[in-house]
Amino acid sequence: MKTLILSSNGPETPSIAAEIIKSGELVAIPTETVYGLGADGLNPEAVAKIFLAKGRPQDNPLILHVAEAADMEKFCHNIPQAAYILAEKFWPGPLTMVLPAKDCVPLETRAGLPTVAVRCPDNAVTREIIRLSGVPVAAPSANISGKPSTTTAEHVLHDHDGKIAAVVDGGPCRVGVESTIVDLTEDRPRLLRPGGITPEQLMEVLGDLVVDKAVVAQIDKDAVAKAPGMKYKHYAPQAEVVIVAGSRENAAAYIRSHFVPNDRVLCFEEELPLYSGCNPLSYGREADTATLSAGLFAALRELDSPGIGRVYARCPDGGGIAYAVQNRLKKAAAFRIIDPEVEV
Ligand code: AMP
Ligand code: MG
Repeated sequence: MKTLILSSNGPETPSIAAEIIKSGELVAIPTETVYGLGADGLNPEAVAKIFLAKGRPQDNPLILHVAEAADMEKFCHNIPQAAYILAEKFWPGPLTMVLPAKDCVPLETRAGLPTVAVRCPDNAVTREIIRLSGVPVAAPSANISGKPSTTTAEHVLHDHDGKIAAVVDGGPCRVGVESTIVDLTEDRPRLLRPGGITPEQLMEVLGDLVVDKAVVAQIDKDAVAKAPGMKYKHYAPQAEVVIVAGSRENAAAYIRSHFVPNDRVLCFEEELPLYSGCNPLSYGREADTATLSAGLFAALRELDSPGIGRVYARCPDGGGIAYAVQNRLKKAAAFRIIDPEVEV
């Protein structure tokens, strides 16, 4: 099929995209986090097309995108007070809540779980598309499964040109990493994935937050994860990524002494002068961590090329959005981290 490229400024774009969704086909949509591969979340056949296009394992559930907060009541029940407070404070925005699912949500969308993930995205055109389609839009990140996420329409076309009905081009995504996911179905709220809404912001509202171990360590592929998708390899370019911790100077000394031709260095803009001759690629400024989250996936995609040996990556410290960047980079590196300051 020919993939339509629709500008998000086009006056007809919301109605054209909504018609495609109603007809059971796929449309890639821009959000503030990453581009999503959207379909009618109540139509199991449409949802099956998402899994097929991405090569996504069937047991990895999708997020339902709604046009307004009140819509969560259509798809979830036993909604705790905390969900209303979080929605009031952070929606539309990069926060996904896991809540008990109503029967109207097909098992295909939630991968057989009794719960469903919902989010109201902060992109006016995408919300208008959802509103006009009259259904919640199921949309995982639009990348091929396992690969770095899509933060531009070009990334989407690279992975799906000719395989999906349309992409809505809304320019580069502002946040650049996927939404924060918080599970509200247990006794204590649980962070399943860090993102644009930070743990600090959640704590301020909830007063309590358990960080799931999938956020900080690699889950064994045979282990039971809170959502099965959490145990899959994620965000990885073809090359082996290794995070090098430590001070700027110690990391540069380590990398420069181990670097061989065809390796690459993924670093902060401030560090570029330390890596002359090592083909460095910056993904943003360490002093402004929002630029790191916005630039990470485009950089990982640039490094997703067969000729590259090893990628030595520098990772920001600290909380806020840096916490989400650490999580994605560590997963891309399969938790391979070298600290030259403790190496013997
Ligand atoms: P993606 O759309 O690529 O960001 O993937 C959606 C993420 O949401 C997956 O990693 C899932 O594990 C998570 N997710 C979706 N539904 C649920 C759910 N019901 N319970 C827990 N996690 C979920
Ligand atoms: Mg994804």
